[in-house]
Amino acid sequence: MLNTLLLINPLDLATGETGLDQLVKIFGFFFALFLLFFSFAIVIWTIDDVMSRTTNFWFQLFMTVLVMLFNIPGLVIYLLFRPSRTLSEESYDQLEQKMMDSSLSSHTQCPECQRDLQDDFLSCPNCHTEVKQQCTHCHKVLELDWSMCPYCKGKITPKHTTHPTHKVAPHKTLLADNS
Ligand SMILES: [Zn+2]
Ligand SMILES: [Zn+2]
Repeated sequence: MLNTLLLINPLDLATGETGLDQLVKIFGFFFALFLLFFSFAIVIWTIDDVMSRTTNFWFQLFMTVLVMLFNIPGLVIYLLFRPSRTLSEESYDQLEQKMMDSSLSSHTQCPECQRDLQDDFLSCPNCHTEVKQQCTHCHKVLELDWSMCPYCKGKITPKHTTHPTHKVAPHKTLLADNS
């Protein structure tokens, strides 16, 4: 009995209103509720997005307040002014750059004139010093002191270099000379 009263009560209170008015009111109420949740979701999304793109607190705060106050127009302004890359994309780029730098620094240097050489150079183009040898079987570029090609397993006579800066250990060279 109490339940039915409670159910009917709001309808009874609206004196003189037709069922259609009630329906419009209920629809309006849910529409307002939807708009409220929608704008709330936009604000949450903005906070999440701005934090993934910048560590600047004032920019985060300003954009959040802007979207809170103006909602969709605020969101459009935010989308126009937000940093184009997220922080994780940014750090990935930096990592890529670092890797490129390190691969550049690992380039071979001429033991005589210290000029930067490409890894597949056989001789220094500047001072004509021999820096690598070519496999007689598969023609891959190999280190001067290698006696076997790691690519085709072909035997090669290691060439002994006279430059002291080359990576061949002195005793190793002596042993090879004696044999
Ligand atoms: Zn050189
Ligand atoms: Zn080979």
